[in-house]
This record gives sequence, structure tokens and C-alpha cells, in this order.
Amino acid sequence: MADTIFHKIIRREIPADIVYEDEHLIAFKDIAPQAPVHVLFVPKRDVATLNDLPEDPAVVGRLATAAARYAKEQGLADEGYRLVMNCNDHGGQTVFQLHLHLLGGAQLGRFGT
Ligand code: 5GP
Repeated sequence: MADTIFHKIIRREIPADIVYEDEHLIAFKDIAPQAPVHVLFVPKRDVATLNDLPEDPAVVGRLATAAARYAKEQGLADEGYRLVMNCNDHGGQTVFQLHLHLLGGAQLGRFGT
């Protein structure tokens, strides 16, 4: 398995506040939350960036489904929330194991510029 901080969390080598796990993915709270709810959904198989997705396009579907389910459980569905995936340098990716950010619990700023 490749070695990023997220792989270490998957292998339980470093602690994390894990909120969901199944055979395909793990979800834990972001260490530096940018919103009242900020959870990262991470596949267990090695996928460094969105550029590597063609190998297994189902990965994103699983992450998004788990994130939407968690958002609903947390009571975020009606007010809304944001899902974000950063890719490489211009996208602001800092950990090179694919992950989906769930941000919610407050009015978020608009994207655009
Ligand atoms: P990226 O910038 O790659 O899209 O997002 C990486 C995210 O991982 C950041 O929001 C950052 O705060 C979070 N992060 C980095 N290291 C750790 C860690 O050790 N534990 C947790 N829970 N989150 C981390």
C-alpha cells in the first residue's frame, strides 16, 4: 500500500476520529476543520488523485454515496452542504490519496473567482 497520512489512518497507525468505515472506504473528521462539519471520505484502495480514476470509476460513487448518507444522518440534507475533491497543485491537493471533503453545518462562501 502507498504511504500517505491517510494510509496510516486506514492501518490504525495514527489516530483519527473515524465516523464511518466499510470494506471500501473510511471516513474521519478533518484535523483542521473548515466548517462545523468537515469529514474526509477516503477509499481504501490506492488512488492518488482524480487523474487515476479511470482504473475504478466506482470509487467516487461510493465516496459520494457514503458522504450524502452521513450528511443526512447529521441533519445537513435540507440546509445543504458541499462535497469537494482537490486534484494536484492547482486544485490545492496536499495529501495524495484520493479523498472527498464533506463540508457543512454553516452557510459556506460561494466559489467563483
Ligand atoms: P487536500 O488539501 O489534500 O484536499 O485535503 C487534505 C486534508 O487533510 C486537509 O483538509 C487537512 O486538514 C487534512 N489532514 C491532513 N493531515 C491530517 C491528519 O493527520 N488527520 C486528519 N484527520 N486530517 C488531516
